[in-house]
Amino acid sequence: MAKILIVEDEKKIARFLELELKHEGYEVICAYDGREGLDAALSGKPDLLILDLMLPLLSGIEVCRRLRQTSDMPVIMLTAKDDVSDKVMGLDMGADDYMTKPFAIEELLARIRVALKKRRLTGKTHETLTEGPVHMDLSSYGVTCAGNEVNLTKKEFDLLAYLMRHTGEAVSRDELLNEVWGYEFAGDTNVVDVYIRYLRNKLDEKYSIKTLHTIRAVGYMFKYEE
Ligand code: CA
Repeated sequence: MAKILIVEDEKKIARFLELELKHEGYEVICAYDGREGLDAALSGKPDLLILDLMLPLLSGIEVCRRLRQTSDMPVIMLTAKDDVSDKVMGLDMGADDYMTKPFAIEELLARIRVALKKRRLTGKTHETLTEGPVHMDLSSYGVTCAGNEVNLTKKEFDLLAYLMRHTGEAVSRDELLNEVWGYEFAGDTNVVDVYIRYLRNKLDEKYSIKTLHTIRAVGYMFKYEE
Protein backbone atom coordinates (compact mmCIF):
# COMPACT_ATOMS: atom_id res chain seq x y z
CA MET A 1 0.00 0.00 0.00
CA ALA A 2 1.14 3.52 -0.74
CA LYS A 3 3.01 5.54 1.89
CA ILE A 4 1.70 9.06 2.45
CA LEU A 5 3.47 11.90 4.24
CA ILE A 6 1.30 14.54 5.91
CA VAL A 7 2.97 17.90 6.62
CA GLU A 8 0.56 19.97 8.70
CA ASP A 9 1.28 22.08 11.77
CA GLU A 10 -2.30 21.98 13.04
CA LYS A 11 -2.02 18.79 15.06
CA LYS A 12 -5.77 18.17 15.14
CA ILE A 13 -5.99 18.21 11.36
CA ALA A 14 -2.83 16.11 11.02
CA ARG A 15 -4.20 13.53 13.46
CA PHE A 16 -7.57 13.45 11.71
CA LEU A 17 -5.94 12.92 8.30
CA GLU A 18 -3.61 10.29 9.73
CA LEU A 19 -6.53 8.28 11.13
CA GLU A 20 -8.59 8.57 7.96
CA LEU A 21 -5.71 7.57 5.70
CA LYS A 22 -4.72 4.65 7.92
CA HIS A 23 -8.34 3.55 7.88
CA GLU A 24 -8.09 3.47 4.07
CA GLY A 25 -5.07 1.20 4.41
CA TYR A 26 -2.31 3.71 3.64
CA GLU A 27 0.93 3.81 5.53
CA VAL A 28 1.18 7.30 7.07
CA ILE A 29 3.97 9.49 8.38
CA CYS A 30 3.44 12.97 9.84
CA ALA A 31 5.62 16.06 10.11
CA TYR A 32 4.60 19.28 11.82
CA ASP A 33 6.73 22.02 10.26
CA GLY A 34 8.21 22.75 6.85
CA ARG A 35 11.78 21.75 7.60
CA GLU A 36 10.83 18.46 9.23
CA GLY A 37 8.43 17.88 6.34
CA LEU A 38 11.09 18.42 3.67
CA ASP A 39 13.48 16.07 5.50
CA ALA A 40 10.80 13.41 5.81
CA ALA A 41 9.87 13.77 2.14
CA LEU A 42 13.48 13.39 1.01
CA SER A 43 14.51 10.62 3.40
CA GLY A 44 11.22 8.75 3.90
CA LYS A 45 10.50 8.43 0.16
CA PRO A 46 6.72 8.57 0.49
CA ASP A 47 4.57 7.88 -2.58
CA LEU A 48 2.59 11.06 -2.04
CA LEU A 49 2.83 14.23 0.02
CA ILE A 50 -0.06 16.15 1.58
CA LEU A 51 1.39 19.57 2.25
CA ASP A 52 -0.11 22.45 4.18
CA LEU A 53 0.69 25.86 2.69
CA MET A 54 1.14 27.88 5.90
CA LEU A 55 3.82 26.11 7.94
CA PRO A 56 6.42 27.19 10.50
CA LEU A 57 10.14 27.33 9.49
CA LEU A 58 9.53 26.67 5.78
CA SER A 59 6.33 27.47 3.90
CA GLY A 60 4.58 24.78 1.91
CA ILE A 61 5.51 26.56 -1.29
CA GLU A 62 9.19 26.57 -0.32
CA VAL A 63 9.05 22.89 0.67
CA CYS A 64 7.52 22.10 -2.71
CA ARG A 65 10.06 24.17 -4.60
CA ARG A 66 13.01 22.48 -2.91
CA LEU A 67 11.48 19.02 -3.21
CA ARG A 68 11.02 19.49 -6.95
CA GLN A 69 14.75 19.96 -7.44
CA THR A 70 15.18 16.22 -6.92
CA SER A 71 11.78 14.56 -6.75
CA ASP A 72 8.61 14.27 -8.77
CA MET A 73 6.50 12.69 -6.03
CA PRO A 74 2.84 13.78 -6.20
CA VAL A 75 2.06 16.74 -3.93
CA ILE A 76 -1.42 17.79 -2.83
CA MET A 77 -1.38 21.22 -1.19
CA LEU A 78 -3.76 22.27 1.55
CA THR A 79 -4.59 25.86 2.29
CA ALA A 80 -7.06 28.01 4.13
CA LYS A 81 -6.81 30.61 1.40
CA ASP A 82 -9.08 30.52 -1.58
CA ASP A 83 -7.15 32.71 -3.92
CA VAL A 84 -6.22 31.97 -7.52
CA SER A 85 -2.80 33.59 -7.16
CA ASP A 86 -1.93 31.25 -4.25
CA LYS A 87 -3.14 28.29 -6.25
CA VAL A 88 -1.13 29.33 -9.27
CA MET A 89 1.96 29.87 -7.13
CA GLY A 90 1.61 26.50 -5.42
CA LEU A 91 1.02 24.73 -8.70
CA ASP A 92 3.85 26.61 -10.30
CA MET A 93 6.18 25.35 -7.59
CA GLY A 94 5.21 21.86 -8.67
CA ALA A 95 2.20 20.89 -6.58
CA ASP A 96 0.00 18.46 -8.50
CA ASP A 97 -3.24 19.39 -6.84
CA TYR A 98 -4.75 21.85 -4.43
CA MET A 99 -7.43 21.71 -1.74
CA THR A 100 -8.92 24.59 0.18
CA LYS A 101 -9.74 24.02 3.83
CA PRO A 102 -12.25 23.04 5.03
CA PHE A 103 -12.67 20.14 2.63
CA ALA A 104 -14.58 16.87 2.62
CA ILE A 105 -12.31 13.94 3.43
CA GLU A 106 -13.94 11.91 0.63
CA GLU A 107 -12.78 14.50 -1.86
CA LEU A 108 -9.22 14.37 -0.58
CA LEU A 109 -9.27 10.56 -0.71
CA ALA A 110 -10.51 10.70 -4.30
CA ARG A 111 -7.73 13.08 -5.29
CA ILE A 112 -5.14 10.92 -3.57
CA ARG A 113 -6.31 7.97 -5.66
CA VAL A 114 -6.15 10.07 -8.85
CA ALA A 115 -2.63 11.31 -8.04
CA LEU A 116 -1.34 7.83 -7.22
CA LYS A 117 -2.93 6.34 -10.33
CA LYS A 118 -1.50 9.07 -12.53
CA ARG A 119 1.89 8.38 -11.00
CA ARG A 120 1.62 4.69 -11.82
CA LEU A 121 0.60 5.52 -15.39
CA THR A 122 3.38 8.02 -16.01
CA GLY A 123 6.06 6.62 -13.71
CA LYS A 124 8.27 4.80 -16.16
CA THR A 125 7.90 6.10 -19.66
CA HIS A 126 10.49 6.75 -22.31
CA GLU A 127 8.13 8.47 -24.63
CA THR A 128 9.31 11.47 -26.60
CA LEU A 129 7.28 14.05 -28.51
CA THR A 130 8.60 16.13 -31.38
CA GLU A 131 6.84 18.77 -33.48
CA GLY A 132 8.95 21.09 -35.57
CA PRO A 133 11.74 22.42 -33.34
CA VAL A 134 10.00 21.45 -30.08
CA HIS A 135 11.16 18.20 -28.50
CA MET A 136 9.99 16.70 -25.20
CA ASP A 137 11.52 13.75 -23.39
CA LEU A 138 8.83 12.51 -21.03
CA SER A 139 11.15 10.32 -18.97
CA SER A 140 13.72 12.97 -18.14
CA TYR A 141 11.32 15.95 -18.18
CA GLY A 142 13.62 17.55 -20.74
CA VAL A 143 12.35 20.07 -23.27
CA THR A 144 14.30 21.66 -26.09
CA CYS A 145 13.42 24.14 -28.80
CA ALA A 146 15.73 24.15 -31.81
CA GLY A 147 18.26 22.39 -29.58
CA ASN A 148 18.08 24.96 -26.78
CA GLU A 149 17.07 23.78 -23.35
CA VAL A 150 13.68 25.14 -22.21
CA ASN A 151 13.14 25.25 -18.46
CA LEU A 152 9.55 24.40 -17.60
CA THR A 153 7.85 23.86 -14.27
CA LYS A 154 6.18 20.49 -13.84
CA LYS A 155 2.70 21.86 -14.62
CA GLU A 156 3.92 23.71 -17.69
CA PHE A 157 5.56 20.47 -18.80
CA ASP A 158 2.41 18.41 -18.24
CA LEU A 159 0.29 20.97 -20.08
CA LEU A 160 2.64 21.13 -23.06
CA ALA A 161 2.88 17.32 -23.19
CA TYR A 162 -0.90 17.00 -23.24
CA LEU A 163 -1.27 19.58 -26.00
CA MET A 164 1.54 18.02 -28.04
CA ARG A 165 -0.04 14.58 -27.74
CA HIS A 166 -3.10 16.17 -29.34
CA THR A 167 -1.24 18.19 -31.96
CA GLY A 168 -3.63 19.77 -34.45
CA GLU A 169 -6.66 19.20 -32.22
CA ALA A 170 -8.57 21.93 -30.41
CA VAL A 171 -8.57 21.08 -26.71
CA SER A 172 -11.04 22.77 -24.37
CA ARG A 173 -10.00 24.48 -21.15
CA ASP A 174 -12.17 22.05 -19.18
CA GLU A 175 -10.44 19.08 -20.77
CA LEU A 176 -7.04 20.57 -19.94
CA LEU A 177 -8.10 21.11 -16.33
CA ASN A 178 -9.37 17.55 -16.09
CA GLU A 179 -6.45 15.90 -17.78
CA VAL A 180 -3.54 18.04 -16.64
CA TRP A 181 -4.72 19.12 -13.20
CA GLY A 182 -6.49 15.81 -12.69
CA TYR A 183 -9.96 16.95 -11.64
CA GLU A 184 -12.48 19.74 -12.09
CA PHE A 185 -10.60 22.79 -10.86
CA ALA A 186 -13.83 24.38 -9.58
CA GLY A 187 -14.32 26.59 -12.61
CA ASP A 188 -10.90 28.21 -12.44
CA THR A 189 -10.25 27.88 -16.16
CA ASN A 190 -8.18 31.05 -15.99
CA VAL A 191 -5.46 28.87 -14.45
CA VAL A 192 -5.15 27.31 -17.91
CA ASP A 193 -4.85 30.74 -19.51
CA VAL A 194 -2.13 31.71 -17.04
CA TYR A 195 -0.10 28.59 -17.88
CA ILE A 196 -0.58 29.01 -21.62
CA ARG A 197 0.84 32.50 -21.19
CA TYR A 198 3.89 31.10 -19.37
CA LEU A 199 4.43 28.57 -22.15
CA ARG A 200 4.08 31.19 -24.87
CA ASN A 201 6.68 33.34 -23.16
CA LYS A 202 9.11 30.45 -22.94
CA LEU A 203 8.50 29.03 -26.43
CA ASP A 204 6.66 31.11 -28.99
CA GLU A 205 7.93 34.51 -27.98
CA LYS A 206 11.45 33.47 -27.08
CA TYR A 207 12.03 31.51 -30.28
CA SER A 208 9.78 33.53 -32.62
CA ILE A 209 7.65 30.53 -33.54
CA LYS A 210 3.93 29.85 -33.39
CA THR A 211 2.88 26.67 -31.61
CA LEU A 212 0.19 27.57 -29.07
CA HIS A 213 -2.95 28.73 -30.82
CA THR A 214 -6.06 30.13 -29.16
CA ILE A 215 -9.20 28.50 -30.55
CA ARG A 216 -12.03 30.93 -29.96
CA ALA A 217 -14.85 29.72 -27.71
CA VAL A 218 -13.04 26.39 -27.24
CA GLY A 219 -9.56 26.54 -25.81
CA TYR A 220 -6.15 25.87 -27.27
CA MET A 221 -4.37 23.89 -29.94
CA PHE A 222 -0.74 22.92 -30.39
CA LYS A 223 0.37 23.18 -34.01
CA TYR A 224 3.79 24.17 -35.22
CA GLU A 225 3.95 26.95 -37.77
CA GLU A 226 7.16 28.51 -38.99
CA1 CA B 1 -0.87 25.62 8.77
